[in-house]
Amino acid sequence: MNSIFEPLKKAGLTTLKLRYDMRTDRCTLFAAKEWTEDLDFSRYNVDFFTESLLTPDSVFLPDAAVRKLFAGCGLSDYLEKVEHLLRAGRHFGMDCYYYQKYDIRFMGNLHSRKLGIHNKYHATLAGGIRRHDLSDEELDVIVDGLNLSRAMSYKNIAANLPFGGSKTTVHMAPLDMSNMDVMGFLAFAIDRIRTMTGPDMNFPTEMADIMNEHFSQQFTNGPSSPLGESGKPTAYGVYLAMKEASRFVWGTDDLSGRSVAVQGLGAVGRYMADYLLKEPVKLIITDIDESRVKQYIVDHPDRDIQYIPPDDILTAPVDIICPCAMGGILDEQTISRLKCKMVFGAANNQLKAINPQEEIALSKILAEKGILYQESWWHNIAGVLSGAEAYIHGAEASLDRLYKTIEDTVPQKTRENLEKAKALGITPTECMYRTCDRILYGE
Ligand code: NAD
Repeated sequence: MNSIFEPLKKAGLTTLKLRYDMRTDRCTLFAAKEWTEDLDFSRYNVDFFTESLLTPDSVFLPDAAVRKLFAGCGLSDYLEKVEHLLRAGRHFGMDCYYYQKYDIRFMGNLHSRKLGIHNKYHATLAGGIRRHDLSDEELDVIVDGLNLSRAMSYKNIAANLPFGGSKTTVHMAPLDMSNMDVMGFLAFAIDRIRTMTGPDMNFPTEMADIMNEHFSQQFTNGPSSPLGESGKPTAYGVYLAMKEASRFVWGTDDLSGRSVAVQGLGAVGRYMADYLLKEPVKLIITDIDESRVKQYIVDHPDRDIQYIPPDDILTAPVDIICPCAMGGILDEQTISRLKCKMVFGAANNQLKAINPQEEIALSKILAEKGILYQESWWHNIAGVLSGAEAYIHGAEASLDRLYKTIEDTVPQKTRENLEKAKALGITPTECMYRTCDRILYGE
C-alpha cells in the first residue's frame, strides 16, 4: 500500500511535515528523527515535554533530501497526489508522526490557523481526532482528514470561535487505552500541533478523560465533562436550522405534516429524531444497524414512525432528507435520483467533493432541481461549540450557556445565509464560502 510513512520507516525517521505556501503555490517538505525507537511515551510531561529533543542522533532533512527519500521508495507520484490535495483545499499543511514500535501513523491535517492566532490559548486549532484501521487505503484517510480539517476552519467561523481548522486522523490498530505508552504518544503529538480536540470515529470518549488526567488538557468531551455527549446539542442546532430553512422554503417553520427521513440513528441521529417528534411530523428512519431502528420504534409506541431500507432513503418521496450518518452521499448520480425538497442534516461533508469548487458545482445541480441544500458546517456546529465551552471553562462549563449560544447563533446564521444567497442569486453553499473566504483569505 502506498504510504507517506514508508520513507520514514525506511530511514528510521519520526517526523514528516508538509507545508503549502499560498503565496508561491509551492509545497515544501521537512523530515526528522526526533526521538529514539525505545522512548517510553508514558513518561510524557513527566520526564520530557512536547518541545524536547529526544535522541542524540537527531536528523533534520530539508525539502530536496525528503523528496529523494520518496523517490527512492517509488513514491514520488503518490507524494504529488497528496500535495495536489493540499493545494486544492488551500491547506497550510500536514504534520505526521510515526511511532514505529506500534506502527502508529499520526496525521495532523492543518487547514488554517488564521482565526486562532491571537486567542491566547495553547491550542490555536480545533478539530476532532479519529482512528482509521490499518487496512483502510491511506489516500482515502488523507482525503477524509483534509476535507474535515477544511470544514473545521469554516465551521469555527460559523460558530464564532477563535480557532483555526484541523482534523487529526490516526492510522493504527484499535486503541488499547490501558497502554499508556500509546496514550502518551497520542497526547504528545496532539500537543505538538496545538489543536483542541475530542474523540471522534473509532476512538472512545473515555480516551479524553484519560488524556486529561495523565497527559494533556487539549482533549475535551470525555464522559466526565459537565456538558455530556455532543450529539444532543448538535441535533438541537440542526433542528433549529432546519426550521429556519423550512420557513425559507414553505413560509413557516412549523414542521407539522412534513415528511422527514433521518439517515442514521447514532449519537446525533437519534436525538434529531427526538427533536423532530416534538412536532407532528411524518418520521421515516433508517440505519444499517437495524436493531437501532427497531429499538427506536419500540421506544415510541404512540407515534407512526416508518422504516425505510438504507439503500432507499435517497430516493424516498419525502419533504426533507436529514443525513446523520456518513459523508460523501451526494454526487451527480445520487442527486439526479432525489425526490425531496430539501436535504438538511448533521452529517459532515455530504457532498462527494474534495474542494469548495467541486462542492459549489454540486450545490448548483441541487439548486437546479429545486432542492434546498446548505453545507452542514454552517449549522452542525454545536459539537465544536461544546468542545470550546469545555476547553475554555473546564469544570465551570455550562450546559445552559451552550444551549443559549446554539439558540442565539445557529438559526440566525442560517436565516442570514439563505436570504443573502437568494439576494445574490447564488447557492447557499457558495454564499457560505464567499462569507468565510473573506475572513480566511481576505477575498
Ligand atoms: P455515529 O457513528 O454515532 O452514528 C452514525 C449512525 O449511522 C450509526 O448508527 C450507523 O449505524 C449509521 N449508518 C452508517 N452508515 C449508514 C448507512 N449507509 N445508512 C444508514 N445508516 C448508516 O455518528 P454520529 O456522531 O451520530 O455522527 C453522524 C454524522 O454527524 C457524522 O457525519 C458526523 O461527522 C456528524 N457530526 C457529528 C457530531 C457529533 O457531535 N457527534 C457533530 C457534528 C457532526
